[in-house]
Amino acid sequence: MQIGEPVLRGKAAPLSRQEIRSKPVQQLIEWMRETMRDAPGVGLAAPQVGLALQIAVIEDRPEAMKDLPPEFLAERERKPVPFHVVINPKIRLRGAVLTFFEGCLSMPGFSALVPRSRIARVDFLNHRGDAVSLQAAGWHARILQHEIDHLNGFVYVDRMHPRSLTTMDNLTRYWKNRPVAEVVHDLNLDLASAVGQSASPAPRHKR
Ligand code: ZN
Repeated sequence: MQIGEPVLRGKAAPLSRQEIRSKPVQQLIEWMRETMRDAPGVGLAAPQVGLALQIAVIEDRPEAMKDLPPEFLAERERKPVPFHVVINPKIRLRGAVLTFFEGCLSMPGFSALVPRSRIARVDFLNHRGDAVSLQAAGWHARILQHEIDHLNGFVYVDRMHPRSLTTMDNLTRYWKNRPVAEVVHDLNLDLASAVGQSASPAPRHKR
């Protein structure tokens, strides 16, 4: 589903344990995993495939980072994340706010700088319907925030620094693989200027 679809702007419905364990939901999870891998992406939320359900799949595979400079990975604290399913999540944000370029399968071809908390604590149900508490840091925390935003009707442009919006081509040409501090300087960005920073669109986005 591409930006503009109403399903990307609504609040998705939670699932019961029984629903999670049902064959249709198990098949949906498998299908979302394949769709995410084919894209390829590091996360996919059910509203992005047209379903207003609180399900997201996440996976950051080693293959996705093999061509990225080690200092790029280190700056983002990006490490492989095994496939996991997040259902009915409650998120709490901790730690510093870090700003990096982010993209979305529902807005292909674009990217922007998005401030996100370095640490996310998430309580959710897994693919078997078991309660799980997870504390994630770095890129995994960012992916969780991005996907859980989808379940609440938010996309990254609601939180981005508008002046940093770029096509992917121009991201590669001018901005990628440079320290964020340099990018901030060249874009003449005020880091306090992100959309929703003064009046966060999501009341749960508390720090
Ligand atoms: Zn997205």
